[in-house]
Amino acid sequence: MSHRSARRIHIKGIVQGVGFRPFVFSTAKALNLTGWVRNSSAGVDIVASGNLKDLDLLLEKLKFEPPPLSKIDLIEWDEIQTEDFSGFQILESKVIPGEFIPISPDIAICEDCQSELFDQQDHRFRYPFINCTNCGPRLTIIRDIPYDRPKTTMAIFPMCSVCKNEYENPTNRRFHAQPIACPDCGPKIWFQEKNGHRTLREEGLQLARKYLKEGKIIAIKGLGGFHLACDATNPQAVDTLRNRKKRSQKPFAVMGFSMRAIEKYADISASEMELILSKERPIVIVNQKNENSLPKQIAPGQHTIGVMLAYTPLHLLLLEPEQDYPDLFVMTSGNISEEPITYSNADCLERLDTIADGFLLHDREIYTRVDDSVLASVDGKHYFFRRSRGYAPQSVPLPQNSSMDLSVGAELKNTFCYSKGEYAFISHHIGDLKNFETYQAFLEGVDHYSRIFKITPQRIACDLHPEYLSTKFAVEYADHNQIPLMRIQHHHAHLASCLADNHYVSDTPVIGMIFDGTGYGTDGNIWGGEVLIGNNRGFKRAYHLEEMPLPGGDQAIMHPNRIAIAYLIKNNLLLNQMLAPLQTTDPDELEILVKQLKSRINTPLTTSMGRLFDAVASLIGIRQSINYEAQAAIELEQIIEPNIEDAYPVDLDANVIRVKGLLEELISDLIKLIPAGVIATKFHNSVVEMVLKIAKQIRAQEGVDTVALSGGVWQNLYLLKKTILLLRTEGFTVLFHYQVPANDGGISLGQASILRTTN
Ligand SMILES: [Zn+2]
Ligand SMILES: [Zn+2]
Repeated sequence: MSHRSARRIHIKGIVQGVGFRPFVFSTAKALNLTGWVRNSSAGVDIVASGNLKDLDLLLEKLKFEPPPLSKIDLIEWDEIQTEDFSGFQILESKVIPGEFIPISPDIAICEDCQSELFDQQDHRFRYPFINCTNCGPRLTIIRDIPYDRPKTTMAIFPMCSVCKNEYENPTNRRFHAQPIACPDCGPKIWFQEKNGHRTLREEGLQLARKYLKEGKIIAIKGLGGFHLACDATNPQAVDTLRNRKKRSQKPFAVMGFSMRAIEKYADISASEMELILSKERPIVIVNQKNENSLPKQIAPGQHTIGVMLAYTPLHLLLLEPEQDYPDLFVMTSGNISEEPITYSNADCLERLDTIADGFLLHDREIYTRVDDSVLASVDGKHYFFRRSRGYAPQSVPLPQNSSMDLSVGAELKNTFCYSKGEYAFISHHIGDLKNFETYQAFLEGVDHYSRIFKITPQRIACDLHPEYLSTKFAVEYADHNQIPLMRIQHHHAHLASCLADNHYVSDTPVIGMIFDGTGYGTDGNIWGGEVLIGNNRGFKRAYHLEEMPLPGGDQAIMHPNRIAIAYLIKNNLLLNQMLAPLQTTDPDELEILVKQLKSRINTPLTTSMGRLFDAVASLIGIRQSINYEAQAAIELEQIIEPNIEDAYPVDLDANVIRVKGLLEELISDLIKLIPAGVIATKFHNSVVEMVLKIAKQIRAQEGVDTVALSGGVWQNLYLLKKTILLLRTEGFTVLFHYQVPANDGGISLGQASILRTTN
């Protein structure tokens, strides 16, 4: 026998509740190693004894072939004295006070569970809650830590002997799978009709399928909340859902049983396919096929569509293909207009009663409501619009290491962020805090994350905007807990968010092209078209879009026509009666508007880039009023004609970006009846060229050649991709988001990053 040595190995990251110990156990056995593995509250500890070569192999396997749901942040090891172990064992967990370990997000059903689900011989054949250590609910069911069944919403389901045996067997793929369940002991589904009649289990499922097939709308309890579903290929069903949901024209996402169903209606690139099939199963924004039979009402005014694959066993059973059964389904958040997603049975029956014809319910409680994540693929990487299910509460690594902080984010698309050590735990998508229920969810979330990550903030950061509910919360929190409060300018937070997202650690300042709708400026005006030079420590405002009076303040945001008129008056452009915003504005309203703008009553100044997009959408005649955020800009992007290269002029006057020339030429194109798509494209190209011109100017003057792109306007993928391409061609290093959204969902990370740089 060759010489034996021993090692102690410590692993940090998402390594609990993901089948890590069974993996170590079976790997060690296979390599003839002896020793033990155990969970500690700081990760996983291993002591292994054997041949040097086999010990190296163990490390290799840990590094390169860990269980699919684990996420290793650190592996440390050292040589120790060999001991005599009898075999390899899994030891009881060891608790280290004050330490914490990251928690896994909710994960889509794995392949093994999927094949068992449809295997007639399997004990869990057609069981809607089948899961294992590689898949199933996590964040949504956790009440408290340590992550053990009694601290989840599975506590009320005592395990049967079959489940218990699997749960306790280290070689079983359900070893310590906390949500383990089967038809004998676990949660069950039922279908509830409007009259209250309930049909249980398989029969209930079949009734739900019958409803869908008949074009009815049903509410489905999913992983993180309720969906409203109908046959996506049935125009009447889609229309009815849209009317009953009273919301707007916001696009619906669709779900398919398999890639085949999705590819029938959408063009999918290789990188998009990878995203759709990933274990997170997000909604992915892709192009619709040119000729497709989907009703236009699914995504009005858009050639893109949000698609996802069935991600729970219940979805698979509900969508399973069958002769004459629909192949694509609308799966939209179960809410009315902008309310948060419904997540309890009682709430669903009350709030969704006017929308759904029937309800597919179950008795596994959702503790934390988590919306579907929404992404696109940009440059082969993730590009988030909403980071939530499947990703939260996975941490984003922070370059600077420090104490425990809380950052409360912005007001729209709110997320909050706890940070500790090298981790930033960004919450799931919370939403618009002005909505009462959403604000309650924010308060509950802040409290819950503090408990599960064992973080007692020593400092707190918020936005500079005094009226944000998150700011007011932070002020009170700081006062109550006697901890320092830091107010951070909105666009500075966007810049820092982009730096943290890219793990940019240098002290050299970068150029921040920070374009969004609204953010409170250091001068009290509404900023949003900002070119900053800076880093975490500070910034200077190098350029900004010209100031424009916003008639009626926030009210104007819903009415692009008012913004267009404000731009015309501000720039002394002849009020040509043929222009769309003038044609569509009521004469009385127009008179009041002109008076208001000339006398400057209730017209706060804004430099918002979002408003410039609104004004152009109105001028072209795309949209004069909106019913969801950024609708005008989104529809403007949809009519782009990618082969047009022309642009309008943008002038730099000291540090102000002037758009008079742009508007004059754009209006002249309108008078010449140039097609809307051409004008929209030329406008987008102008913004790209403006970015390029400014970046080159700053590089010439200050030698800065890294450009960060952040703010909600960068959700415009044409603008983003073209800007990245041209900046790179000119030799710039371009930083853009890939771990958090460019919109206000990324603000909390930026705040956290600034907070810890100012130690
Ligand atoms: Zn599984
Ligand atoms: Zn069971």
